[in-house]
Amino acid sequence: MNDPAVRTLFAALDQASIVARFVGGCVRNSVLGRAIDDYDLAVSHKPDVVMRALEAAKVKVVPTGIKHGTVTAVIDGRPFELTTLRRDVETDGRRAVVAFTDDWLEDAGRRDFTFNALYADRDGTLYDPFDGRRDLAQARVRFIGDAEIRIAEDRLRVLRFFRFHAWYGKPPFDAASFDACRRNAGSLRGLSAERVSKELLRLLKAPDPADTIAAMVEAAILDQWLPECVGAARLRVLIAREDKPDPLRRLAAILPPGADATAIGKRLKLSTQESLRLDVMLASEPAIDITGGPKAWRAGIYRLGGGLYADRLLLATEAPGDWQAALAMARTWTPPELPVSGGDALKLGLKPGPRVGALIEAVEQWWIAGDFTADRAACLAELERLVRALS
Ligand code: ATP
Ligand code: MG
Repeated sequence: MNDPAVRTLFAALDQASIVARFVGGCVRNSVLGRAIDDYDLAVSHKPDVVMRALEAAKVKVVPTGIKHGTVTAVIDGRPFELTTLRRDVETDGRRAVVAFTDDWLEDAGRRDFTFNALYADRDGTLYDPFDGRRDLAQARVRFIGDAEIRIAEDRLRVLRFFRFHAWYGKPPFDAASFDACRRNAGSLRGLSAERVSKELLRLLKAPDPADTIAAMVEAAILDQWLPECVGAARLRVLIAREDKPDPLRRLAAILPPGADATAIGKRLKLSTQESLRLDVMLASEPAIDITGGPKAWRAGIYRLGGGLYADRLLLATEAPGDWQAALAMARTWTPPELPVSGGDALKLGLKPGPRVGALIEAVEQWWIAGDFTADRAACLAELERLVRALS
């Protein structure tokens, strides 16, 4: 709060008598002493008033979600999201129609969990209308109000419950909250795929989400969106192996090898890149040969690339062998480029066509089998030998 950017922001809002308080994740994490990644503030006035106040103070402001009451101030290159106090007018389980209000308690009451309704003044005074700090200290995720009703308003809150549990909770679950989630497990189908996959991937990014995933599977929470999920056993091994959390790789770890990555990617609206990576992570071919030693590792790294090979290694939780050494190689060894190409085959008198590709592939196989030691001259000699053998 001594941050110059924060001071600039409050000075601008003060000029227009706008009251602003930090809210949500940034307050929750600062109470816990954890890193803060973005700053959200609740403000007493409507977005157009907030925009004008900031513009008058020469603060850059972007209308990022005027309809929902949100504008973003950018100070020293850092974004501050300012959202007008709101209350729900209409909810349908997916999207809410909101109205602006000047009542701080109304704004707090429409938030999901007690510790997500923590507000802080610029001077650090905390507002904690639902005892969120106590729940945070006890590592308990608890719905504000009646869990059943809060879930009926927005069913995504079931997934959010588990996401926040993975990050901030420890067993046992708050019984009323958990039971309501379990009862509503079957109602998640109608949600938008984007919201679901965002929550799921954020959950999987938590330091150790394995127990949470296991509880979700037991309560059938993933049945609508990820019926393929096989539980958390491989995830546990992966977490013990990995150097840093990777949500997509962890997603692969709760799916059976050979699962249809394309279908899952479509269902969860993953990006093309994510889908392709998931596909390689779940594929059974090429098999990962860890016991084959450095030569086999190099061949694997050459075929998949270091990143994907590392993914497959980390996920090969049942394969024997020195996966640590293989992983170290995947992270450090850069595969060479095949020193011959189709052009070389044409120079030997071959006509362009599929045969050229097949020949080069044959040389490549030979080159890999020789552990990449053959240089260009040796590869050319092998190419010539194959051409002569074929003619
Ligand atoms: P993170 O640090 O992971 O972003 P966060 O608390 O900021 O955590 P967001 O999903 O960014 O989480 O939401 C910001 C705040 O908005 C929450 O703290 C909560 O108060 C409120 N909120 C967000 N989504 C919902 C929802 N579906 N229902 C009720 N309140 C919500
Ligand atoms: Mg946030």
